[in-house]
Amino acid sequence: MAAEGQPAYRAQQIRDAVWRRNAAAEDELRTLPGPLRARVAETFRVDTIAADEVKVADGGLTEKTLHLLSDGALIESVLMHYPARGYGGPGRPLHRERHTLCISSQAGCAVGCPFCATGELGFGRDLETAEIVDQVRHAARRLSASGSRLTNVVFMGMGEPLLNLDRVLEAVAILADPRMFGLGARHVVVSTSGVVPGIRRLTALGPQFTLAVSLHAARDPLRDVLVPLNRRWPVAEVVAAARDHARVTGRRVSYEYVMISGVNDTSVDAEALAMLLRGDLAHVNLIPMNPVAHTPWQASSPERVAEFAALVRKGGVGVTIRANRGQDAGAACGQLAADRAGQPTASVVARRREAIVRESEAALRGDRNTQSLPAELAAAVGPGRRL
Ligand code: SAH
Ligand code: SF4
Repeated sequence: MAAEGQPAYRAQQIRDAVWRRNAAAEDELRTLPGPLRARVAETFRVDTIAADEVKVADGGLTEKTLHLLSDGALIESVLMHYPARGYGGPGRPLHRERHTLCISSQAGCAVGCPFCATGELGFGRDLETAEIVDQVRHAARRLSASGSRLTNVVFMGMGEPLLNLDRVLEAVAILADPRMFGLGARHVVVSTSGVVPGIRRLTALGPQFTLAVSLHAARDPLRDVLVPLNRRWPVAEVVAAARDHARVTGRRVSYEYVMISGVNDTSVDAEALAMLLRGDLAHVNLIPMNPVAHTPWQASSPERVAEFAALVRKGGVGVTIRANRGQDAGAACGQLAADRAGQPTASVVARRREAIVRESEAALRGDRNTQSLPAELAAAVGPGRRL
């Protein structure tokens, strides 16, 4: 506005229209005089998302959106509604209602975890800050139509947030700014598959949000297969970085653990997990795996998940079993985009399955995976990349 010779309050008016009234297009900047609005329309984009396709699941409690970006890339976000519950006194619930949005930080992902539909898609590109933020604005717009407000944002959609950290930090700052979205830092979770330099950068910045670490295995041979980044930063290094983060920020770290039947759900795994995290400011979330097309794996049974949780708890570590959301909408991260990309041929799926079985059998015997990183992942974390 300064460059246009406009007074500062015009910038404020645009910010209010975009954030307070969730303007979707330039013609909704109604407080601006016509000629200035036309000038803004020439110079700015109020929205970076070209189209949304919404799928509803869980009887309306989960809404999964496939967003089409301007260059044709597809990303996903998932809006989850948690109604108020519990009795907290007359007319007062114990837990207020929550509306949590799970957003993407990249189109695709280079890490390639074999149980993840996004990993199977491979890496597309980093999202721009505005593309991260606009997922939130779209959800907020839908919520405000029903008189509700977004309360929580989690970076657990497509992509590895710590491999696009500059943009993620910028997006978090915008979401936290009271003049813009005004979301409390305590209401943002960033989940990482274990990019150690990124965790260390966050620690140096102090408490910005809750850190979640996707562990999925406490033993290196198995984690080498389940989270290929482990071949670069093994379990001990990831947990040491997360432990420092908790110590410096005073904030508890969440560890995510996807439960895969017969792969990482044995009593030995539970014991290893408890030994690894005992005494830490940490909490484990067990998540039954959402089945995805290209793996031969199934979710652990509810009984097995409960037994595993009991063992971890007995070992001295806090643990919660996370309910699965949106299975009927293909809500495992990346599934809608993967469907759109077209099903892989039967022979590709068969080859993938064979490789996963071979690697996981070797891992279950305790062999480390000595293969070098897949090319895409090596490029994402290799020398020359500032992490
Ligand atoms: N890349 C980051 C954040 C996005 S993935 C990370 O891995 O942490 C967010 C979470 O979804 C991770 O904990 C991931 O392991 C989990 N996830 C991916 N595929 C899944 C599946 N098929 N079933 C259950 N959880 C899955
Ligand atoms: Fe990437 Fe996370 Fe999926 Fe692994 S689980 S492939 S890190 S998005």
